[in-house]
Amino acid sequence: MSLQLKDLYDKFRDPATIKALAKLIGEEAKKLERPINVMEVCGGHTHTIMKYGLKQLLPESIEFIHGPGCPVCIMPKERIDHAYILAQQPDVILVTLGDMIKVPGSKGSLQDARSKGADVRFVYSPLDALKIAVENPDKTVIFFAIGFETTTPMTAALMDQAIERGLKNLLFHINHVTVPEVMKELIDSRDVHVDSYNNRIDAFIGPSHVSVIAGAKIYEPFPRAYHRPVVVSGFEPVDVMEGVLMLVKQFSEKRCELEVQYRRSVTYEGNLKAQAMINKYFEKRGLFKWRGLGNIPDSALKLRDEYAKFDAEKRYADILPKEEIEDHKLCICGDILRGMAKPTECQVFSTACKPSSPLGSCMVSSEGACAAYYKYGGVM
Ligand code: SF4
Ligand code: SF4
Repeated sequence: MSLQLKDLYDKFRDPATIKALAKLIGEEAKKLERPINVMEVCGGHTHTIMKYGLKQLLPESIEFIHGPGCPVCIMPKERIDHAYILAQQPDVILVTLGDMIKVPGSKGSLQDARSKGADVRFVYSPLDALKIAVENPDKTVIFFAIGFETTTPMTAALMDQAIERGLKNLLFHINHVTVPEVMKELIDSRDVHVDSYNNRIDAFIGPSHVSVIAGAKIYEPFPRAYHRPVVVSGFEPVDVMEGVLMLVKQFSEKRCELEVQYRRSVTYEGNLKAQAMINKYFEKRGLFKWRGLGNIPDSALKLRDEYAKFDAEKRYADILPKEEIEDHKLCICGDILRGMAKPTECQVFSTACKPSSPLGSCMVSSEGACAAYYKYGGVM
């Protein structure tokens, strides 16, 4: 019998292994001097925690805080508006990843733009934009690029191909964000509720897909300068549970270190070729607004000046608004992402705000914290 993909996943979803890890965590947690709050940075982890009921398997002394880890959820309305406006320009084809389809800006979503006649195409891989540009030489194809360090190399590869083929009709609107800067911001930012620096996050589970590219090294400052241990973990439930066990052990053994649980693919240095490709085309943007969290220094990338002719933000600067747009007044995404509140504490959770009509960032993509609570928290 041939090996199925499922056979590979199964051992990382095995209930007996998950329960055995829960038992080990429970025993280790008895040695803790105080409860600990673990932030899972990425929405993929939140999804796994909710889907497999991992929180319910853990002792009360371990709490999860759901982090800002989804590039779709954190995209501010003003950037969605850029995409919406660009899509409506004559002879423009706007291309982006499928996750962006329903994300609402102040004017509507890209789905709405399409229903009004705009040529918006959703693709699975940035390289699909190349084919669209080649097949439509009379149109301007704009790739609206989103994602963490995980997807940035694919946008860089698209740029590489566009240059190699001498394509003149492919432009880029760059919205790539970087993970360590938002983690720093979450610790550093002044918390208006308790008027002190955020001390609720005791430790981080780092997303493995980001570190496959950027390496585990990007989390080095957290144990050293911020006294927060980090374990880079995979996304399967066994991975997450082992990551939690590794963190609890650090606390019980009074260590504070950077460790890698997902040794299957993550190295300390990461993928150096991909990093070189990113550095060739992109540089830090300065400030970038994260929906629900506000402006965060150095947390996003932009095209280097030498590639300005590919930059849709520059080409269409006259028609792209610069003003910031407030989030919905009742939305408490900022508090959720800082670990100050759970989705169910929001007044409009599952009533006015649902995945089909999201009011805030955490309900937008299927992996946002509010969407995960909605799907797996017994609401649906
Ligand atoms: S799309 Fe999912 S897996 Fe990717 S960063 Fe967002 S939450 Fe994580
Ligand atoms: S339920 Fe909706 S409005 Fe409330 S915090 Fe979540 S995303 Fe924001």
